[in-house]
Amino acid sequence: MKTPGDHSLAVVGAGLVGSLLALILANRGYQVTVYERRADPRKVGDASGRSINLALSERGWRALELAGALEAVRRIAMPVKARCMHNQAGALTYQPYGLPGRGRFGNDECIFSVARGPLNRILLEEAEATGRVAVKFNHALQDFTSGVDGVTLAFAGGERCTHERMFGTDGAFSAVRSRMMRTDRFDFSQSYLAHGYKEVAMPPAADGGFAIDPEALHIWPRGHFMLMALPNPDKTFTCTLFAPYEGADGFADIPDAGAARGYFEQHFPDVLAHLPDFDAEWAANPTSSLVMTRCAPWNQGDRVVLLGDAAHAIVPFYGQGMNSGFEDVRVLADMLDAYGGQPGTVDWAVLMDGFSSQRKPNGDAIGDLALRNFIEMRDSTGDPQFLLRKKIERRLADRYPDRWTPLYSMVTFSHLPYGEALALGHIQDGIMAEVMAREDIATCWDSEEVAEHALALAEQRMPKATA
Ligand SMILES: Cc1cc2nc3c(=O)[nH]c(=O)nc-3n(C[C@H](O)[C@H](O)[C@H](O)COP(=O)(O)OP(=O)(O)OC[C@H]3O[C@@H](n4cnc5c(N)ncnc54)[C@H](O)[C@@H]3O)c2cc1C
Repeated sequence: MKTPGDHSLAVVGAGLVGSLLALILANRGYQVTVYERRADPRKVGDASGRSINLALSERGWRALELAGALEAVRRIAMPVKARCMHNQAGALTYQPYGLPGRGRFGNDECIFSVARGPLNRILLEEAEATGRVAVKFNHALQDFTSGVDGVTLAFAGGERCTHERMFGTDGAFSAVRSRMMRTDRFDFSQSYLAHGYKEVAMPPAADGGFAIDPEALHIWPRGHFMLMALPNPDKTFTCTLFAPYEGADGFADIPDAGAARGYFEQHFPDVLAHLPDFDAEWAANPTSSLVMTRCAPWNQGDRVVLLGDAAHAIVPFYGQGMNSGFEDVRVLADMLDAYGGQPGTVDWAVLMDGFSSQRKPNGDAIGDLALRNFIEMRDSTGDPQFLLRKKIERRLADRYPDRWTPLYSMVTFSHLPYGEALALGHIQDGIMAEVMAREDIATCWDSEEVAEHALALAEQRMPKATA
């Protein structure tokens, strides 16, 4: 039997995933209270200290479309069409991200740069505008208990309240998950990358335009460390240095802005000219760590479920952390809609168990893919063999789009479950290793013979739908 409070839902964490989730639940008739540890950013500014722009791609767009927020987000999104690699000598190599004309908006396939603060604000405001979402800022969840009457949330400061169900979208260091870890047979693992990151803003050029090409994500790969830059609509770039904490070329060897200047002069000489405020930016901005977490199950019975970073924190090197969290929300919404989508019709025990068992392997897979991309971006984007492999794959995808889909495209431009994309990626690695083993590959890479060889192997080894 359903109680009157069946549609009283709590979302803990008003970040990107929690705000989108609140909107999607409210669109389906639920009354939602969102509890957020921080103060309202509309009143105090964004003090999150988090990366200020993010790459948004197809999985994210689909969830935004389902929520009815696509057009509002599109207005603040900048298309980014290619990776642009800068070698030590300052030479540039462009790799387009996707195929011409195949993008969601009739454009060439590309990713989009979106500022975190404005994106979060749009989602929160659209959620509030439904009239079914109340957002309570300055509410840090400390603990909860769940029982037959619902979930009782306890906040710092002593306030308590009870809801029928709770969604944990409180990020990588989730308090909801911490409480779940104290229940029997809950698995959890956490590891930090040996690398950290630091952001430095690149202001507009003297003429008011972008200082470097705004249609690209720029990478300066230098073996075990790298610099990246992603454009913002205000004609700035956010530059992010990823480097080991300790050891050669690590943050420990860059004690102050003067040392950092020397480091950039040595490794990224073409960037420094565009960073007039470098010393102040370096001194002011923190060095932040990169954490990966896994857990299972993602739900506690029919009362509590985790989504987004709370369920699967990953390293940022595939640009999929937010996108995968948005996909969590979309999958949950699809499951709700399978019940007719209205409060009172849902078997939450089945839904939460099903969500956890379906999404968990995909959360693990995108974690693996992100780590793999870190190694690729860091070590290989400057490697001629790697670049040649990418050129061959690109040629295959351009000429035979129905017979060869690069792994990056499966992850970024499709809705194939991440686990399946990862498995297909392993098969493609084997195929490309055989193709690259030809002694004359450097001279015949663009021949039909090489293409036919790769496609024949794909035909044999790849499942039919995606070969
Ligand atoms: C350097 C970097 C670059 C990235 N780039 C990309 C990218 O290009 N593309 C991409 O898709 N992803 C990217 N990501 C990942 C992305 O930032 C995260 O996946 C995304 O922010 C997860 O959203 P979330 O809502 O799950 O968690 P969060 O954004 O962390 O939000 C959690 C919210 O919960 C609140 N909260 C925490 N604890 C409590 C509590 N106890 N009580 C109440 N509220 C609480 C927090 O204040 C916060 O508002 C990047 C991450 C990093 C670090």
